[in-house]
Amino acid sequence: MSGFTTLAVHAGQEPDRLTGAVIPPIYQTSTFVQDGINVLRDGHEYSRGSNPTRNGFEQQLCALEKGASGFAFASGIAAEDALLRAVLRPGDHVVLGADGYGGTNRLVSRVLAPWQVQHTAVDVTDLDAVRGAATARTRLVWVETPTNPLLGIADLAGLAELAHEYGALLVVDNTFASPYLQRPLEFGADAAVHSTTKYVGGHSDVLGGAVVVADREWHVEAVNGFSPGSTLAELVAFQQFAAGAVAGPQDTYLAARGLKTLALRMERHQHNAGQIAQWLTQRPEVSQVFYPGLPDHPGHELAARQMDGFGGMISFRLRAGEAAARRFAESTQMYKLSVSLGGVESLICWPSQMTHGCVAGTENAVPTDLVRLSVGIEDVEDHLEDLELAFTS
Ligand SMILES: *Cc1c(COP(=O)(O)O)cnc(C)c1O
Repeated sequence: MSGFTTLAVHAGQEPDRLTGAVIPPIYQTSTFVQDGINVLRDGHEYSRGSNPTRNGFEQQLCALEKGASGFAFASGIAAEDALLRAVLRPGDHVVLGADGYGGTNRLVSRVLAPWQVQHTAVDVTDLDAVRGAATARTRLVWVETPTNPLLGIADLAGLAELAHEYGALLVVDNTFASPYLQRPLEFGADAAVHSTTKYVGGHSDVLGGAVVVADREWHVEAVNGFSPGSTLAELVAFQQFAAGAVAGPQDTYLAARGLKTLALRMERHQHNAGQIAQWLTQRPEVSQVFYPGLPDHPGHELAARQMDGFGGMISFRLRAGEAAARRFAESTQMYKLSVSLGGVESLICWPSQMTHGCVAGTENAVPTDLVRLSVGIEDVEDHLEDLELAFTS
């Protein structure tokens, strides 16, 4: 039992021992009865610390990411926050992707900055730029690949080597690729993070996040004589329990259910996306298509080596500029105008004032003539018809 889809269906999802229910129950409980003081049945005491539904999902995702431990949170941002605070201390520095999820940039630059955490945002597809940004205080190199929204490809093995040279950890936000297409820990990354809201959940019906860590020693400075652990897993587990942004049982049930079909969904997402990207390159209205599956994409060969497919996200620029891009994003019918991504239904957005509105006007701003598609699993003919209509409306 080691195939990806076999693990997706079975890891952490064993039938209920008591009743034989094939699908593990949703343990909708805050606390667990003790058989004597501190005598715990099955190790569960209180659902912030552990809950069987959450733990099952954590094991399932961890098996797919080939990690040592997984931790589920209430949102992707909550997962990121826990990992950042597990590792960073005042005075530390983070190298961050410039072309990345706007909320990650906001978390580091606005929530952590008052705690004396510094950061530099760079083009993570350029190893020299990352090296140029790293300092003796760099504790984390935090990247997305493919990047958002320009779908650049970062060299994970190269980045892991570089980060470790500086005594830093490499963290990869694997939300866009999903573990079906890319497993960062296999390239030497120390942790993968997810917004499980996206492809993992896959149905746009739940928020969630996760951290999956490799089995590494990692020492942080003790604070007031207290050191919360010596492995990355212990440090993240401590944050999850002590700061408490855990995912609830209903939410982790939905995420676990979605994750079982990840492989099937991703195959269809990327089958559609490949055809649509190719079609877009033929459109006179389009000046540039960003999709790593296109042979002239600058990261195409790296993506082909490092990923098992090219994913379901496409961005493209409209020749006629900002107004045309806005109009296009507001003109599709099947593609719903919306932030977020990774659900079975297709979504369209205008990143410069939607997903990336919080970096508008900064050096990390995204082009205003850019449109981003989260290509759903609907029939490809319907995609092309919808996009065609939006071009001519
Ligand atoms: C959505 C997203 C996040 C944030 O996750 P939430 O679940 O919305 O908190 C982080 N990284 C990436 C790449 C995302 O797409």
